[in-house]
Amino acid sequence: MSESVGRALAELPDRSQIVIIGGGVIGASVAYHLAKLGWTDVVLLERDQLTSGTTWHAAGLIVSGGMTTDTLAWMAKYSRDLFEVLEDETGLSTGFRPVGYLQTASRDQRLDKLRREADFLRLMGIERQEISPHEVSAMWPQLDASKVLAGFYTANEGRADPTNVAMSLAKGARNAGVRIVEGVSVTGVTTKDGRVTSVETDFGDIEAEYVVNCAGMWARQVGEMAGVSVPLQAIEHAYLITEPFEGVSSDMPILEDPDRFAYYREETGGLMIGLFEPVSAPWSLDGIPDDFSFGEIPSDWERLGPFLEVAMEAMPQLEHVGLRKLFTGPESFTPDNGFLIGEAPEVSNFFVAAGMNSLGILTGGGVGSVVASWIVDGVPPVDVTDIDIARLSPFQTSRPYLAERSVELLGRLHSTGSWPHSTPATARNVRRSPIHERLKQAGANFFESSGWENTAWFAPDGFETRFELSYGRQDWWEYHAAEHHAVRSGVALLDLSAMSKFLVQGSDAEKVLNRLSGNNIVVPVGQCVYTQWMNEQGGIEADLTVTRVGDDRFLLVIAESFHRRIETMLKRNIAVEDRVYVTDVTSGYALLSIQGPDSRTLLSEVTTASLDNDVFPYFTAQDIDLHYARGMAFRMSFVGELGWELYIPSEFALGVYDRIVEVGHELGLVHAGMETLESTRTEAGRRDYGLDMENTDTPLEAGVGFALDFDKPGGFIGRD
Ligand SMILES: Cc1cc2nc3c(=O)[nH]c(=O)nc-3n(C[C@H](O)[C@H](O)[C@H](O)COP(=O)(O)OP(=O)(O)OC[C@H]3O[C@@H](n4cnc5c(N)ncnc54)[C@H](O)[C@@H]3O)c2cc1C
Repeated sequence: MSESVGRALAELPDRSQIVIIGGGVIGASVAYHLAKLGWTDVVLLERDQLTSGTTWHAAGLIVSGGMTTDTLAWMAKYSRDLFEVLEDETGLSTGFRPVGYLQTASRDQRLDKLRREADFLRLMGIERQEISPHEVSAMWPQLDASKVLAGFYTANEGRADPTNVAMSLAKGARNAGVRIVEGVSVTGVTTKDGRVTSVETDFGDIEAEYVVNCAGMWARQVGEMAGVSVPLQAIEHAYLITEPFEGVSSDMPILEDPDRFAYYREETGGLMIGLFEPVSAPWSLDGIPDDFSFGEIPSDWERLGPFLEVAMEAMPQLEHVGLRKLFTGPESFTPDNGFLIGEAPEVSNFFVAAGMNSLGILTGGGVGSVVASWIVDGVPPVDVTDIDIARLSPFQTSRPYLAERSVELLGRLHSTGSWPHSTPATARNVRRSPIHERLKQAGANFFESSGWENTAWFAPDGFETRFELSYGRQDWWEYHAAEHHAVRSGVALLDLSAMSKFLVQGSDAEKVLNRLSGNNIVVPVGQCVYTQWMNEQGGIEADLTVTRVGDDRFLLVIAESFHRRIETMLKRNIAVEDRVYVTDVTSGYALLSIQGPDSRTLLSEVTTASLDNDVFPYFTAQDIDLHYARGMAFRMSFVGELGWELYIPSEFALGVYDRIVEVGHELGLVHAGMETLESTRTEAGRRDYGLDMENTDTPLEAGVGFALDFDKPGGFIGRD
């Protein structure tokens, strides 16, 4: 028996409260933070050596560029602050040096964006200052600043040594009692009754109450062991290192130019030029090799050459400087550039912390802290709308989807993604409404949401949109405005087919749903109820409508991105003995919304049912005929108008749509998209989950306390 095998066998327990899979920065940070919270019955298993995956070769930027949400900004700041002082506790330096961080803007739109980001970050306690081109040149004399409009400078950010960051966190965890075992691969995950029970390793099994998948770019494969979809893909990520040259000092701030898709920092007297090229390349689509350690990918000069040229043009001196190395390593990216964090919808107590999109070092401390709190407290401590693994769907692990989407993920992350109205260009037309082609003919401009093609706005024939990455008014604004006016003064049709729809049936359906809902759903057949579902601490997990469509039948409707969250909550709150059956009927019904003062007149040409107030009051639902079809009509309105939402069996949807358009012609029916849904609902003061409220808000804080029934028998989850 070799020495390492003997050591692994000796160190491996039969059981542990928590098993962490993966010893990169994220696994080490989760272990460290669990120990901080007093949970030390933890074993971290690393296939090879700590940091041998992606962590070892990171550039080590510890900066807050692109941290455009509260959660990301908090994670970056927390990590930076932790890395500065970790040595005091562990005796091992992270190598953090606050050399400063400078971003440049060379276009008006970028200037506008960076100014907004600076304001936001200031609110989050990160001091970013606008500085003049002259000051930029003083900090970076090598930069051709002739086109620079302004710089944005954060004095106390900088760089760290990624390996030391992970090692210091691991040391802190070890000191507190966490076992860290290298050279042990997890080969399987066992579950029972939907809950994780143990991991299998090449040295035997370990029983576990919780398992945390921190396997970086292997996390998709590790997820598959447990039947958990982890939609991420390794992508080639490169930096160039030049020979040393005059004037470059290790105290120069990190420099980023988002419009050149590049960052720059000193490296052994020369420059490191990192790329986030707008056309990137997936690596090893069918899975990451088990033995890829401290690995490097052959650099594709031909692909990267043009992007490098643009990046190097910013530094005229580089024309005379030799190139030492072009390094390419793999890093995992996710379809929407958000992390994959949280309890897997498929398996209770199986957590994931992966898909770091090249931000794993600079947010690593915060990620570990959030995941540890989530495990210990049972709820996330921050808004997880954009990072919760439950927001993505299993189809997003499909190879063709990931292969196509990977191409734009680096560029979107660094430069083109976080603008208003920005939507991915790749892997499109994945999910389409039954009336998609008709909407296209009507001039729809689409954006992607959970794989669905949703309509943003409609333009007249011949109008070719020129989408601009800008906060300014887009050239299609007048068309959006016309849609908005139609909702308020005439009648508009909105396709909401992407909304998730669940039929919950059975003699215990009322009991289960009433316990989950803050509002009282014990209502007569045909009554719609607006409600929130909360976690045990009162944080809003979901915002939805529950409509009683039969004695023992309810239809739940929620925005598409919260599909899995609500499905999981249902699954976890239905006891074995409960007679409740949940069916996902999203694909079964198109959802057409007819809104505006003329909606009654229009709809009465499509149905023989009476739509009068006394027969069909607000917030009620009825089965009605809709031209040749029978469907469900809900009298409700997110936009604050007279209106109906029509649930039409999918195969009938085209016919009903055609009839609506035909009779709508005389009434001036207008097609409206989600931009109009957004502007009209904002005007009407309706809250939108993910924007106006999230999981750390209670309904009272979010202004939807009117939808709570504190006195209903049995209460509800989160009431106390
Ligand atoms: C060129 C480049 C530059 C970068 N620069 C920066 C930067 O400046 N700042 C920044 O914040 N980020 C940067 N990153 C990104 C950063 O490196 C990653 O986000 C981060 O290292 C991810 O950490 P991780 O712990 O998730 O993954 P990893 O470090 O890959 O750790 C996962 C670990 O899991 C182990 N493992 C896998 N399968 C198993 C199994 N079955 N059993 C046991 N163990 C297993 C692996 O061996 C590995 O050690 C850069 C990335 C690249 C490629």
